[in-house]
Amino acid sequence: MASLYHLAPLTPRDDSTVPMARQQGRVLAKVTNYNALRRDIGVKAIGRVMQDMAARLRVAMPDAEVEPVGRDVIEVAFSIAEPAALAQIVVKCRAICGVPIQVDRISCLPKMAIAGACAPADGDSTLLIERAEAALTDAEAAAAPRTRPAGAVEETVVAEVDRALDRGEMVLHYQPKVHIRRQAIDCVEALVRWQHPQRGLVLPGHFIPATERAQRMERLTLWTIAQSIVDQRALRTQGHDVRIFINISGHLLADAEFVRLACACIAAAPDARLGFEVTETSVIRDPDAAITHLREFDRIGVRISIDDYGAGLSSLAYLKQLPACELKIDKLFITQLTSSNRDPLIVRSTIDLAHALDMEVVAEGVETQAALALLSVMGCDMAQGYFISPALALTPLAAFLAAEQHRQATQDVRGSFTRRAAGWKRG
Ligand code: C2E
Ligand code: MG
Ligand code: MG
Repeated sequence: MASLYHLAPLTPRDDSTVPMARQQGRVLAKVTNYNALRRDIGVKAIGRVMQDMAARLRVAMPDAEVEPVGRDVIEVAFSIAEPAALAQIVVKCRAICGVPIQVDRISCLPKMAIAGACAPADGDSTLLIERAEAALTDAEAAAAPRTRPAGAVEETVVAEVDRALDRGEMVLHYQPKVHIRRQAIDCVEALVRWQHPQRGLVLPGHFIPATERAQRMERLTLWTIAQSIVDQRALRTQGHDVRIFINISGHLLADAEFVRLACACIAAAPDARLGFEVTETSVIRDPDAAITHLREFDRIGVRISIDDYGAGLSSLAYLKQLPACELKIDKLFITQLTSSNRDPLIVRSTIDLAHALDMEVVAEGVETQAALALLSVMGCDMAQGYFISPALALTPLAAFLAAEQHRQATQDVRGSFTRRAAGWKRG
């Protein structure tokens, strides 16, 4: 897996009786895809990216000395009270360098390896630099593509996604989730799209499954988290405070390094209000790791939602072990809701059971007024789907929220029950 976070503390562990000396520390942040970036955005633009990144590090760490060294490395020199503080500095640098940088109106997210070392303040600083460089070499090796064999098609897609991230071609669209009773939009789901220069807007179905099979979703997901935080702030300045839900692939849920990086990125933005959507199948793959990691996300304020519920085989009672507060019923059951005999039964019993377990229920794939009306009668809490709104780019989303456009879809619902819906209410 792409470990981008390494430490090389120098202080020996066996002399714990000696009072801890103040430490000097070095963190090295290296752009590992410098050549690809230079080819894509040009040498001038990458120079600006490096300057911008150094400037951000200086603002965030005013007591540190931050200098670009060579074309692709930034060195951060600082002083800390004890070696244990080094990890926090590395994580902080990682979070700062994980936020996309705007160059010529392109959002650019370089691939970084970040590593550090520390030594007693009166120690040998040449040795300190050598240790920091060695830690950086380890971090780069760990960040190299994983050994799990991926097919040629998958490798091509992964490389294309990487390049798209380098060039700032990935964008997030947001699909509102409307609260049916309150007729309000409190949250949206971030759905990634690739704004391809030739092919136009490419939907995730064309590149996410292959990237997931290659187990290489880490970079795209960290970008999605960082970009959601930026977009959420932009919405807030326009008066719209919505929680943003992000889809998290199954293999990442068992990946401790990803969890640490994601938590660092979120902790660096105390104003962020996020949620993660995870599928039941991803939890079942490695339940112990998934539960531990979901609890960590829950602890830092990330709300957990179970996506595509019903598509797998798990029982709700089992899922209750997770710190999830939301259940999204798979659109498979919702798109056929008013034309099938079986689906309304399943949906209604799922809603009742989820409520008994203290979870809110979202129906995804709501395409018609009849479906929304039936869901409203069944007591479903939230609805998401083309009938309310497709996923929208940030500017149209702000306009949609400002105009309270969702009310067009929700206000007539209560008066529009079909006989079928009324029948379900009685039943
Ligand atoms: P999902 O998370 O279950 O997202 C719902 C998908 O259903 C979205 O497709 C959405 O546009 C579509 N949809 C929304 N309303 C309706 C409706 O009324 N009817 C129908 N038939 N479909 C509707 P999209 O955007 O193509 O995303 C497909 C899948 O790609 C997502 O399924 C999610 O699993 C994955 N995905 C998207 N963005 C990300 C991401 O950033 N990270 C990860 N890991 N996966 C993502
Ligand atoms: Mg989802
Ligand atoms: Mg879904």
